[in-house]
Amino acid sequence: MSLRALKNIRRTIGFRLTLWYSGIFILSTLVVFGLAYFVLSASLKRQDRETIEIKLKELSVLYQTGGKEALEREVNLEKKFEKKIPFFIRLAGQKNKTLFLKIPYQWADFSITELGRKSAGADLRWDWLPSPGNQTALEVASTRLANNYLLQVGKSTEDRENILWHFRRIFIAVILPLILIGFTGGSFLAFRALQPIRHIINTIRSIDIGKMHVRVPSLQTADELEELVSLFNGMVEKIEILINSMRESLDNVAHDLRTPMTRLRGIAEMALRSDHNLSECREALGDCLEESERILTMLNSLMDISEAETGVLNLEKEIVDVSTLIGQVFDIYRYVAEEKDIFINVRVTDQPGIFADPARMRQVLGNLLDNAIKYTHPGGRIDIETSRRQQNMVIRIQDSGVGMPPEELPRIWERLYRGDQSRSQRGLGLGLSLVKAIVEAHEGRIEVVSTHGQGSTFSIYLPLKN
Ligand code: ADP
Repeated sequence: MSLRALKNIRRTIGFRLTLWYSGIFILSTLVVFGLAYFVLSASLKRQDRETIEIKLKELSVLYQTGGKEALEREVNLEKKFEKKIPFFIRLAGQKNKTLFLKIPYQWADFSITELGRKSAGADLRWDWLPSPGNQTALEVASTRLANNYLLQVGKSTEDRENILWHFRRIFIAVILPLILIGFTGGSFLAFRALQPIRHIINTIRSIDIGKMHVRVPSLQTADELEELVSLFNGMVEKIEILINSMRESLDNVAHDLRTPMTRLRGIAEMALRSDHNLSECREALGDCLEESERILTMLNSLMDISEAETGVLNLEKEIVDVSTLIGQVFDIYRYVAEEKDIFINVRVTDQPGIFADPARMRQVLGNLLDNAIKYTHPGGRIDIETSRRQQNMVIRIQDSGVGMPPEELPRIWERLYRGDQSRSQRGLGLGLSLVKAIVEAHEGRIEVVSTHGQGSTFSIYLPLKN
């Protein structure tokens, strides 16, 4: 592996997490072992001292009652029965002169002349005599007897050093596999914890090369990372819809702007080529204005549809009274209907308000009513009514117009789609796309039922404000 690759690995979160995991694991193991060692060593020491103290007290009582002979007798008896715990025993008289000494052969190396230099009071005094090799030591407790003699009892630390040595060996034998387990466990945990992040990185890489449909696999762990993944997927979904919608809008604009733009250019060219007749120029300018107005309307509608479909349309929602809305729209279109001799019947029952953007809702109702008037023969009829179905407010606009053939119905919501019978009518083929996008942006839906030659019914379902 190259130096650079190693440097890169060192910089990864995975590597750092692994180090942290394994570091903490190993450190806590060391602390546990250290504590256990300390507690064991302290309790062994305490045990040894207790044993020495008991022996010292026992011998001191023996000396007080039976003198030096009693002491010798006891020690000989011990020798005879080979008691397991060998003790160092010394009785020193005036000027620290040894009167009695029992020292097991294995401790013969200890320099016992050191003992007794410091004088003990009536209480206990502890001395520590290291062995020549310094591996073990002789721990000695001294006490002054009533005749001012010094009685000393001691014991080698060899036994407890042995136990501790075994403990240390076990520790060394265990710590190496533990480090390995710590590191492997750390790597595994870091690998698992970072899996969603890796998925996100791979997904971003795929998106970067144009695969917009790729998503991060869901984890089903119900934790923060799953939330991150689902938010990320949601965001990518939105971006994809936005890009597709932009692409579609651009295609539509490019395709549908060509005709009016060519017309606009044609009118301007014709006017330029004419002999500067003022009225002709005025007429041409008027046509240009009309054409550019049409283009502007088309662009605005396309923008609105895109924004509504992608959820970025700014809706200024408030509680809206539907009968007021319908009344306002009716007032705008009543004269157009009257001119065409179409009767509009409004039947609005008292309904609770809906939470909606009133301006956008007027646009929706206006488009539907405009279509109904456009596609209804003179003398026809339009019915507007409201009702309540479960948690929805239903607004129905029914006309007795030309209707639509069944094969046209699924296509009427497409942008720039115009039905066969609409050719003679003004329009851009964007009205229904905008209506649908706005209704859906309000979490509602729109349905149509139409019979060719008999009329159509558009029904809007909008959630009621509870
Ligand atoms: P347009 O500008 O052509 O009216 P729309 O998007 O509003 O565009 O409508 C799309 C097509 O749906 C129309 O061209 C027409 O064929 C059909 N359509 C819409 N409303 C009605 C209606 N009330 N009756 C019959 N056909 C309709």
